[in-house]
Amino acid sequence: MNITGTTRITGLFGYPVEHTLSPVMQNAAFLHCGLDYCYLPFSVRPESLRNAVEAIRALSLSGVNLTVPHKEAAIPFMDRMDEEASAIGAVNTITNHNNVLTGHNTDGKGFVMSLTEQGIVLEGNEALIIGAGGASRAIGYYLSRTAKRLYLYNRNREKAEDLAAHLSRDSGNVKVITTLSSLEAFDIIINATPLGLKEHDPLPVDPVFLQPRQVICDLIYHKTPLLIKAGSRGCRTIDGLSMLLWQGAYAFELWTGINPPVEVMRTALLNLVK
Ligand code: NAP
Repeated sequence: MNITGTTRITGLFGYPVEHTLSPVMQNAAFLHCGLDYCYLPFSVRPESLRNAVEAIRALSLSGVNLTVPHKEAAIPFMDRMDEEASAIGAVNTITNHNNVLTGHNTDGKGFVMSLTEQGIVLEGNEALIIGAGGASRAIGYYLSRTAKRLYLYNRNREKAEDLAAHLSRDSGNVKVITTLSSLEAFDIIINATPLGLKEHDPLPVDPVFLQPRQVICDLIYHKTPLLIKAGSRGCRTIDGLSMLLWQGAYAFELWTGINPPVEVMRTALLNLVK
């Protein structure tokens, strides 16, 4: 990558950002397309978010991604919000066009595409999301519109109730469940909690309840113990790497206006995690 005076800069605001896989994925895409762009990680403390967003304008950045803990906090600093980001209530991608900052959210769309590319359809299916945080919100926005019914489970039940009420504003098919002791009814089960990130985490669900016909998804990037157990019970499994890929591909398109080289981005990610 050759950085010159004309190079357009994109990046990631997060805290922490040290673990991010996005720079390798996005820079591989820019290089492949011959674009004079680069993608950099920026460690932005929560108290510095307002200044960091203002710096997008001041430094003429083309746009950034946002990760934990900035996705909701950045909303008041946007000039515009697109329809999805506004409905989801979180921003993971900012574009800067002529100093107008627009908040977008590509997480939910990225998740749906990670299923679609595997031939998994949401229509007519009963889906369960475990967790009611930011990721659950983003994917719930899509699932509540496409699945036959969406169920939410969260250890903090009130948060699940709030999210169900929010998602039900446009579709009445979101329900909260209070126990995970029976999972037979679900066609797709999604872990949207961090359980599985740490070595000694408990499993989010008891695998004895899993059925071979079910699709089990984990938003965590690697093959978690949940996915390994589900696979050994004959379930189809999808890890979070493909959601990361597709949310990044949609962000690339927003910044550059060109079709993302998805397979180049996928290879870059797979090389990082193998
Ligand atoms: P978040 O906003 O902090 O929400 C976390 C959710 O998990 C909350 O519902 C929380 O429950 C629940 N939770 C946390 N610790 C738990 C525990 N020990 N036991 C049971 N439930 C627990 O986080 P997020 O942004 O939604 O992220 C969730 C996961 O998705 C993370 O692993 C993140 O890395 C992953 N993610 C992946 C992608 C991707 O591109 N693949 C994108 C975004 C996020 P309470 O409400 O009770 O606290």
